Amino acid sequence: MPIQSINPYTNKVIKSFEEDSEDKVNQVVELAGDTFRFWKKTTFTHRSELMRKTAKILRAKAQVLAKLMAQEMGKPLKEGIEEINKCALTCDYYADNAEKFLQDEVIQAEGTKNLLIYQPIGAILAIMPWNFPFWQVFRFAAPTLMAGNVGLLKHASNVPQCAMAIESIFLEAGFPQGVFQTLLVGSDKVEKLIAHDYVQAVTLTGSEAAGSKVAALAGKYIKKSVMELGGSDPFIVLPDADLDYAAQMAVKGRMINTGQSCICAKRFIVFQNVADKFTQLMTNYMLKLKMGNPLEEGVDYGPMARQDLANELVDQVKRSVDKGAVIVTGGGRPVREGAFFNATILTNVRPGTPAYEEEMFGPVAAIITVRDEEEAIAIANDSRYGLGGSVWTKDLKKGEAIARKIESGFVTVNDIVKSDPRLPFGGIKKSGYGRELSHLGIREFMNIKTLRIK
Ligand code: NDP
Repeated sequence: MPIQSINPYTNKVIKSFEEDSEDKVNQVVELAGDTFRFWKKTTFTHRSELMRKTAKILRAKAQVLAKLMAQEMGKPLKEGIEEINKCALTCDYYADNAEKFLQDEVIQAEGTKNLLIYQPIGAILAIMPWNFPFWQVFRFAAPTLMAGNVGLLKHASNVPQCAMAIESIFLEAGFPQGVFQTLLVGSDKVEKLIAHDYVQAVTLTGSEAAGSKVAALAGKYIKKSVMELGGSDPFIVLPDADLDYAAQMAVKGRMINTGQSCICAKRFIVFQNVADKFTQLMTNYMLKLKMGNPLEEGVDYGPMARQDLANELVDQVKRSVDKGAVIVTGGGRPVREGAFFNATILTNVRPGTPAYEEEMFGPVAAIITVRDEEEAIAIANDSRYGLGGSVWTKDLKKGEAIARKIESGFVTVNDIVKSDPRLPFGGIKKSGYGRELSHLGIREFMNIKTLRIK
């Protein structure tokens, strides 16, 4: 696939880019290696200063960067601005906390002194997706650079301008050249990068298919890896939930980024005695959303990021209907230019239905009715994925008890799942492994060294 910015609102090519040549890629990786040698010796105070400057630049440019996202992948401006502000928050968070998170730890054992120390390992390759073009990168880059590692970014081929903007922001903030570099390359160049001695680890956010290939390469070259892959998060509605609020949040949780988020709620598991009412309320909230040009004020959801992704969703919905799912609202693409897909609710979704079995990466909610708590938990866990999940009930004790039984990396009670720099984030099963954010995220790519003095 060529490296191109295509505006999904018009499906017109905005700009095409030449892939980086082999020579350029080699130079970039060499520079990363050279830079690491001195970057790892810089102080936390110095790195924090630069990271705080980065946060300031992000805030000052929020509008411009949000516009870039709207043009390259269709994100409505207001969501884009929120995304940039969250990146800034995360830069500040790691500027404030990195040193504390990486402090030596004393371990009681025989001898004079036993320590656990955290040391940076080198260049970390980040293979990132288009859905949150800034956030996915900053949640990797802020802890990575603060830890004394250096970053290499291979971004998704449809967001090259966002990718280049990120490198410029770090340079503008004063990070030396080579601390964070963007490569404009297709996925066929990834093996060579992972194989390089200077590249010590790889992190990927994206599809299960890409994750499986990159994790295999990481294994082949014995490099540490973190995989943040797909999800089909359950949203369990108990009969005693505040149904109106739950329905409102269900729409919010499903429609973030036009439904294109790994932690969007995707399977709505509702007790049968409240299912009709919940479906009606959710439909009402869904119908209130305004679809349109992501650059216009007041637009709630834009086109999907690419035409092929919208067409793939049409196929998933069609196959779901063939298996008995019923369309309550939406159900396909409107007749208009752009990669649009109408906000959709499906009911009568059962095991074997694609909407039950597969990740639906767009604005489609699947409602599944259950008889009791046991069935709700069984269905929630009947998924190849295990990223997020939520439980909706006024009985907080019961909510917590159910949350503990959900097989996933992040479960909420009476809230939608949202990443937060302070909270660990990551999945189990086919949703991947490893954790990003918090104190755990910054330790993923460190040499956790044992130091023992007899
Ligand atoms: P991909 O998973 O294919 O792309 C994500 C990143 O991985 C991109 O940078 C891509 O590069 C790269 N990549 C893809 N294949 C390989 C490979 N074999 N080796 C190395 N790098 C690779 O996502 P798509 O854009 O194709 O979206 C397809 C589906 O992926 C979605 O419908 C959704 O289900 C899932 N997805 C999940 C995301 C999440 O947040 N968990 C985010 C995005 C997508 P390039 O663009 O050059 O191919």
